[in-house]
Amino acid sequence: MLNIVLFGPPGCGKGTQAQFLEEKYQTPQISTGDLFRFNLKQETELGQLAKTFMDNGQLVPDEVTTNMLCEHLDNHPNPHGYIFDGYPRTTTQAQKLDVILAEKYNKEVSITVALVVDDELLVQRLLERGKTSGRADDVDESIIRNRIKEYYAKTAAVAEHYKAQGKWVEIDGVGTIEDITAKLCAAINDVL
Ligand code: ADP
Repeated sequence: MLNIVLFGPPGCGKGTQAQFLEEKYQTPQISTGDLFRFNLKQETELGQLAKTFMDNGQLVPDEVTTNMLCEHLDNHPNPHGYIFDGYPRTTTQAQKLDVILAEKYNKEVSITVALVVDDELLVQRLLERGKTSGRADDVDESIIRNRIKEYYAKTAAVAEHYKAQGKWVEIDGVGTIEDITAKLCAAINDVL
């Protein structure tokens, strides 16, 4: 089982790269952002709960997010593993993911690959995406900046969790999509 954590700030290219990796390694992408947006669209109770946080560019509480992830894993078993995109976003979530993988499959995170992109470029990319993505949180620059602020306040520290486990690789997230995919695959192939 190959469990890849794709890590990095909003707009760093996790979703784009996950599409290529899922096919190559037969590991489906699990994007907690997509799962929340699906729930929003379906107007579920979970969607309602997440909406205010998402609209303000804040993180949804850990427990809500983790329960949603667990349910998704149970409904989508895959012996090859998964690509985690957007989870973990806090140290608590990182600790939880270790427990979940151990309890459910007797496995661990195989590697965490972090895409590094300069903040101003992130803002530009997200504003550009906002023209077509239909995502309310991509249109307003102050919400985008708030998401980046949340990333530094709560998410960036997750790096320490994986560095301590020797499972942390940083990759330059600026360049062509193909070049970045090649670098990601090289890092992942090293742990296969
Ligand atoms: P981004 O482009 O900011 O990486 P995502 O699609 O991954 O966006 O997430 C969108 C929103 O969903 C986040 O701003 C946050 O409100 C919520 N969200 C997604 N994943 C998590 C998580 N692991 N923990 C808490 N909130 C989350």
